[in-house]
Amino acid sequence: MKKLFDDKTIVFLLPLVIITFLFLYICYNYSMGIYKEIEQTQNNKDIKNFIYALNISTQKTNLKEKSYYQEVKRICENHFDECLIKTTIHSKRINKENIKVDTYKLNLFLINDFHFLDMKNKLILHIKTKSKQNIIIASKNSIQIFSSLSIIFLILTIIITSTYQKHILIVNDNLETKVNERTSQITHTLKELEKVNLKLFDLAHTDYLTQIKNRRSFFLHANSMFQNQKKSNKPMSIIMIDIDNFKKFNDTYGHEMGDKVLKLFAGTINNYLSEDTIFGRLGGEEFIIAIPNEKIDIAITIAEDIRKMIETLVIRVPYSDLFITASFGVSDSTNTNTIDEIIKNADDMLYDAKNKGKNRVRGRIS
Ligand code: GH3
Ligand code: MG
Ligand code: MG
Repeated sequence: MKKLFDDKTIVFLLPLVIITFLFLYICYNYSMGIYKEIEQTQNNKDIKNFIYALNISTQKTNLKEKSYYQEVKRICENHFDECLIKTTIHSKRINKENIKVDTYKLNLFLINDFHFLDMKNKLILHIKTKSKQNIIIASKNSIQIFSSLSIIFLILTIIITSTYQKHILIVNDNLETKVNERTSQITHTLKELEKVNLKLFDLAHTDYLTQIKNRRSFFLHANSMFQNQKKSNKPMSIIMIDIDNFKKFNDTYGHEMGDKVLKLFAGTINNYLSEDTIFGRLGGEEFIIAIPNEKIDIAITIAEDIRKMIETLVIRVPYSDLFITASFGVSDSTNTNTIDEIIKNADDMLYDAKNKGKNRVRGRIS
């Protein structure tokens, strides 16, 4: 199997991770900035409200010192989580201009120091308050949760992507194996088909009994030979052969014996002929030979040789030896324009040989 993250995936994932972290960092900082502002606004608002409430409630002139202290405490507790009040009250009137406020953070608390001064800048009241930064803490928490969730989401995305990629790789591998299997099957089938085609071609062009060329195949080859010889101005000859009295042979010794004779007859002639001659069975007990580069005189000699060979061919049957003869008609390509013409002339000569008493070669030398 291939490695999980290929170079292309790393090139794609790495910038994605960097960009996401950068984005989270920017978000975090930006949000922190916003919440700092909120913190300040919140603080200022609290302080303003507090001072306003304090002013209103302490305007009551009939308040005694103790009640005044109680009132301040109550308002403080309304506004802040904790407060520490030090009072050196001489005047109950609080001048707005003479309030000093210091605000600072300590741990998770906002601390406010209120110094209330009189006209002569003398301290009337010192209030130290503490308030939890609940909102800010909550905001910070939610930002942290958001960041964590984003990171988890990113990690999940990477895991899902890698799992999916793993799955795809497995599916790909399986598919590749299947394709290879199918390809080899197809190649095998094609080879088989090629063999069958060759066999079919052979069957279509070979005589089933004698295994020499059949009529169709002979005509194809002989015609092509005729064209080639014509082109190169060379002669060719045709020998037509017909076994004598074969019907009688069949009737006497049976069709099966007749088949054996046909095979022996064809085999004997085939062995005798040279490679460049074409030998075929036209049908029944009729055979034909096409000889290239030879005129009728040589063809007649060849036919005569074959005739003698057939004449002396021994067909062995139980208790006796049998003999057959054949008649031959020979013709060549002189003064002809088609292969059919030569064959027709040879056939005429064969007819002549039969009429003249069989077991002979006939050919007209022009
Ligand atoms: P001829 O000398 O005038 O040629 O007489 P013939 O008997 O040879 O000629 P004919 O045309 O009268 O008979 C041909 C015989 O050939 C008829 C048939 O029994 C036989 N024959 C044709 N094809 C086959 C074959 O495939 N196998 C066998 N065993 N005999 C066949
Ligand atoms: Mg015949
Ligand atoms: Mg015959």
